[in-house]
Amino acid sequence: MTDESPSAPITQDVVTIPRKLPEGGRVNLVGLTRDALHDALVGAGTPDRQAKMRVGQIWQWIYHWGVRDFAAMTNLSKDYRALLAEKFEIALPEVVTRQVSADGTRKYLLRIAGGHEVETVYIPEENRGTLCISSQVGCTLTCSFCHTGTQKLVRNLTAAEIVGQVMLARDDLGEWPEPGAPKDESRLVSNVVLMGMGEPLYNFENVRDAMKIVMDGEGLTLSRRRITLSTSGVVPEIARAAEEIGCLLAVSFHATTDEVRDRLVPINKRWNIETLLNTLRDYPRLSNSERITFEYVMLKGVNDSDEDAKRLVKLIRGIPAKINLIPFNEWPGAPYERSDWERIEAFADIVYKAGYASPIRTPRGEDIMAACGQLKSATERARKSRAAIAAEAGLAEG
Ligand code: SAH
Ligand code: SF4
Repeated sequence: MTDESPSAPITQDVVTIPRKLPEGGRVNLVGLTRDALHDALVGAGTPDRQAKMRVGQIWQWIYHWGVRDFAAMTNLSKDYRALLAEKFEIALPEVVTRQVSADGTRKYLLRIAGGHEVETVYIPEENRGTLCISSQVGCTLTCSFCHTGTQKLVRNLTAAEIVGQVMLARDDLGEWPEPGAPKDESRLVSNVVLMGMGEPLYNFENVRDAMKIVMDGEGLTLSRRRITLSTSGVVPEIARAAEEIGCLLAVSFHATTDEVRDRLVPINKRWNIETLLNTLRDYPRLSNSERITFEYVMLKGVNDSDEDAKRLVKLIRGIPAKINLIPFNEWPGAPYERSDWERIEAFADIVYKAGYASPIRTPRGEDIMAACGQLKSATERARKSRAAIAAEAGLAEG
């Protein structure tokens, strides 16, 4: 994945915890692919010829009905339910706190195995509701404007912990279907964005397996076009995201010269703007109906000039794209300021006139620090000093 040369600035030093619990422990069924669930059931003594049907039944209980107790799986025999309860569990992360913003945004602090904490944010909008989920505890990358990037501790979330965020949001919103009730097509969690904590492409397999479950037609049933994976630019994994997940792609672009992008998004030192753009031009799913979103955080005096806007549209020419301008979300100790509103609009205007949709992302949930790039677990408040952040950003102090 990353190259091993001594000069490579990016390391991927994370711990992935094994799926199966130690001998004697119960195996969590959440997060298993259909094949893995099949193997787990056979391993527990389910006769081969029944296993396929059992997978379908259990899958529906867990992901369609939101059931957490084997005893409630009434189309299975009592003995089989008892066997399942002995060998398996249906376990989700624990919700530690839930905060609701004045604008309706909800932020959940979740505790996962090992006592780590991650955050999930639900953003209700007029015709849809977007769930912003995390893929890692913290992030190995150190984008200088991102609060998560100042959090050192990292471990990859398991597929269970990733899909579990979607299930917990449905719990909280009361969104599981009622048996016998008429089918309700309106969805509270209608979209999922991998824009919480972590770099999803550095936890590829777990993110893929979790998203496959979210997209599965007999469970959570979200269309692949309602899932957006945001990456800082892990070039070797980008095409694989299209092939193995098939979701939409967003790229944290944020700068129009390598000199500035090196400071803002340090992975640029490994894969620079030209390499990234070439990879995006080849993105297997690219089309006008499935455009790549270029995320661009607006930092006062750093990347927000008219020249930047002009360079940006020139750089991405030929790529079916939309440009999402994100007013910088400030956090305590951040070495940047949000661009003025007039500046953001002037920038958006240039982008728009060049033929690109250029929505300015409305900051949501600011009163509960739920906005993009502000997520950081509460137990990790011992953050790097302001000086360390400034040094990494290549900024002089003072
Ligand atoms: N690691 C992935 C996804 C998580 S971050 C990535 O970097 O793409 C989701 C988006 O929020 C990214 O575009 C990221 O650059 C942006 N972001 C991070 N910190 C921010 C901040 N303080 N204000 C605004 N956007 C921020
Ligand atoms: Fe990690 Fe994304 Fe934050 Fe960069 S912006 S530090 S890649 S979470």
